[in-house]
Amino acid sequence: MTTPPVQPPVPQNPYAQPVPPQYTPHAAAHAGAPAYPQQYGQQQYAPPAPQPAPPMGYGPSCRLCGSVPAVEATIRGHQGFIVVMRFLKLRGPFCRRCGIAAHRDMTAKSMWQGWWGIGSMIINPITMLINLGQRSKINRLPEPIPGGPGTPMDPGKPIFRRPATLMLLVPVAAFALFATMIVVGAQSDPQYASVGECVHNSGSYSSPNMTVTDCSSSDADYEIVGKLDDTTDDSGCKAFARSTVSYYEEYGSSKYVLCLASKS
Ligand SMILES: [Zn+2]
Repeated sequence: MTTPPVQPPVPQNPYAQPVPPQYTPHAAAHAGAPAYPQQYGQQQYAPPAPQPAPPMGYGPSCRLCGSVPAVEATIRGHQGFIVVMRFLKLRGPFCRRCGIAAHRDMTAKSMWQGWWGIGSMIINPITMLINLGQRSKINRLPEPIPGGPGTPMDPGKPIFRRPATLMLLVPVAAFALFATMIVVGAQSDPQYASVGECVHNSGSYSSPNMTVTDCSSSDADYEIVGKLDDTTDDSGCKAFARSTVSYYEEYGSSKYVLCLASKS
C-alpha cells in the first residue's frame, strides 16, 4: 500500500472576489469563535490543562492526590498565643489516606499549639470534637484505588503515639495546679483551722497575715486555744484562760475570732 503524494497547494488569485461564507451546519457551529484572533494581537489563552478524569461512578476525587474514592470533609486546627488566636482549615475532598494524614497532622499540631490562651482552652477541644465528626466520614472510606494521578499521603503514626500528644497534659496539669492551690490555700487559711492547731503570723500586729502551720515548726507563733464563729467580738476569748492574743477575720458574711496563746 502506497501513500499518495501530498498535493501542492493550489495558487489562489489575490484579486478574486471573496466567496460569501456558506452557512453550512458545520460553519454555524463555529460562528461564535473569533474569526480573526490576530486582529486583536497574538494573545491566545491556553486552554485549561486537562484534569485527570476520575473513573466514573466514584464521586469526587481527593484534592491532594486525585485518588478515588474521596469524601467532602473539612479538617480544622487551632493555635492560641495568649491574645492572638489562629484558626486553620483544610478543605477536602480527601481520600482515606490523605484525610487521615491531614487529620492526624492538624490534631497533633493543635495538641501543642492550641492551648495558649483563655479562649483557646475552650476553643481547642471544640475544634477537636468537630474534627472527630469529619474524621468518621473519612474512616468510612475504603482504601484509595491504586493508579490515581498522585500518590496518597502516608497517614503516619496515630495521634496518641505522637509526642505532641503529651501537650494534651497541659490543660490537665493546669487544672491540677489550680485544684492544688485551692486545697493548699484552704489548708493554710486560718478560717478552716480548729482548736489545737497553730498559726504563723508573717505580717505584723497592725496588719497580720495568719497561715496555719504545724505546731512543731519553728514558724508556729500561736496555738489556737479557742475559736468563736459568726462574730468579730473577741470578748469571748476571756473564757479561754491561756488566750493572750485574739485575731478576727471578716470575709463577706463569714466572720470568726481565733483566741490565741503565744508559743514563745
Ligand atoms: Zn488523597
